[in-house]
Amino acid sequence: MYKVRRWVVRHSRMFETLYRSFEPILLKLHPLWRRLGYARVEAPMRAVEKRVKGLLFDCQMCGQCVLSSTGMSCPMNCPKNLRNGPCGGVRSNGHCEVKPEMKCVWVEAWAGSRNMQAGERIQVVQQPVDFRLRGTSSWLSVVRQQTQRNEERVQ
Ligand code: SF4
Repeated sequence: MYKVRRWVVRHSRMFETLYRSFEPILLKLHPLWRRLGYARVEAPMRAVEKRVKGLLFDCQMCGQCVLSSTGMSCPMNCPKNLRNGPCGGVRSNGHCEVKPEMKCVWVEAWAGSRNMQAGERIQVVQQPVDFRLRGTSSWLSVVRQQTQRNEERVQ
């Protein structure tokens, strides 16, 4: 999958556009998710997300996706799981100090972000990973958070 994920980073703009089309569809389906029950939808959604994002991004299903802020390079593929930029061990050829055969995911992230419309989001400091969310669907999580925010705004 390594070659695929590097290809994705090189085409980060296209994946950014795709996600921008996909997210509103997910949000529009909120009434359906609610009717079916989020708990019931979680398992099939998680299975689809794992398969699709595993293939494209080597997704580790952290449950809090930040791909749109990291140039479409998944930071959970960093052996140190760093979510806010590289460690001090990046090799002079841009490769990882722990896995020398792999390009540093943050070197990739920076390159990917340069192609994206919202590339400046890479400057935003990410919260620490909440490992309680590991293995859950970040797609459903986005819908839950966004609809909750919308409902709070209306009240
Ligand atoms: S940031 Fe998390 S959810 Fe997004 S691709 Fe990486 S492991 Fe998967």
